[in-house]
Amino acid sequence: MSEVVFITGTGTGVGKTLLTAMLLHYLREEGCRALAMKPFCSGGRGDAWMLLSLQKDSIDLNSVNPFYFPKPQAPWVAKTGKIVTKPLMTMQRILKPLIAVKKRCDTLLVEGSGGIFVPLSATILVADMIVEIADRVIVVAPNALGTINHTLLTVCALQSKGIKSVSVVLMAQEHPDISACRNQETLAHFLGKTPVLELPFLGKRASSARSVRKTANTLKPLLAKVFFPASLP
Ligand SMILES: [Mg+2]
Repeated sequence: MSEVVFITGTGTGVGKTLLTAMLLHYLREEGCRALAMKPFCSGGRGDAWMLLSLQKDSIDLNSVNPFYFPKPQAPWVAKTGKIVTKPLMTMQRILKPLIAVKKRCDTLLVEGSGGIFVPLSATILVADMIVEIADRVIVVAPNALGTINHTLLTVCALQSKGIKSVSVVLMAQEHPDISACRNQETLAHFLGKTPVLELPFLGKRASSARSVRKTANTLKPLLAKVFFPASLP
């Protein structure tokens, strides 16, 4: 049985794609049959292209990203440009392409869209998709002022949905603020057994495929800890 690891975040632009890409490269280098998807893209398919560039031999763009909306809005709104109450997307339709890719690998990394309460349809949030498909969840958050609140809210909401295996990865910022040196230990204190790790700042161009490959090779021991945190249930 393959495992589905869902990479979500406390918001948009926090480093989900970068972490997903590095984990993908790390796992494939280790000999694991890993694939990565970004099921929903709104406003551009840059994240999907990025993930595709690291697994070109195994998957195509429409499998990496089965749902694409050109407008930079939450998927539910972006599909039509307006709020509609009729459900446009069933859970079955959302899961079908994910299950198809899951069957082709041992580990499927799924990058979410924005945070966990982003609506995918009138009745489905990203969190609902997580409940249906994920074996465990990695929450990506910027190591900056405000992250304690956003991260605790996200982890608490995941736990309230019954998801037990959650870990947190803080992404160091180019210009760390004064909160950065204590956020990891503060979160670890309040989150108890939920692992909280931190990745160093990797540069402004860290998301290019070339840079991801290089950085993932350098950070192997840390990525191993991110992917296999010691205290997960
Ligand atoms: Mg992204």
